[in-house]
Amino acid sequence: MPITKNSVVAFAYTLTEDDGEVIDSAGVQEPLVYLHGYGQLIAGMENALGGREAGDRFSITLPPEEAYGVYDENLSGALPRSAFHGVDEVEVGMQFQMEFPGGLRAVTVSAVDARHVTVDGNHPLAGETLHFDIEVVSIRAASQDEIEHRHAHGPGGAH
Ligand code: ZN
Repeated sequence: MPITKNSVVAFAYTLTEDDGEVIDSAGVQEPLVYLHGYGQLIAGMENALGGREAGDRFSITLPPEEAYGVYDENLSGALPRSAFHGVDEVEVGMQFQMEFPGGLRAVTVSAVDARHVTVDGNHPLAGETLHFDIEVVSIRAASQDEIEHRHAHGPGGAH
């Protein structure tokens, strides 16, 4: 059966950046499992999986627009350290929730100096062109429960 809406799909993948560095992967023994058709994957990836069969192997290249978005300068900026009162030590890589015009957003500390903390609300992979090597491991029809919950159950699933 090809992958369509309400297929529960298990797939293995290797994710590499433009420079060839592997940044994430899942093997065939522990594949990623998801319910197709509900936007659980980034759009470009879900689109590419539609219609595939178990055993299919393919590679896709996603520009930032189809992956984690273009880098938005407006989501990065320096704040006074006093904005972080209550936090013992602010370090590069720490994450906080912060209020933006569009609502709460996770930000990552990208730089710290004596007076300022620079935070970045972009996804860590924003602006990156991503390459996925994908192997479809298995496909089955979702149960009624899974469709109601909008996620896959069982090994590798949500619960
Ligand atoms: Zn559930």
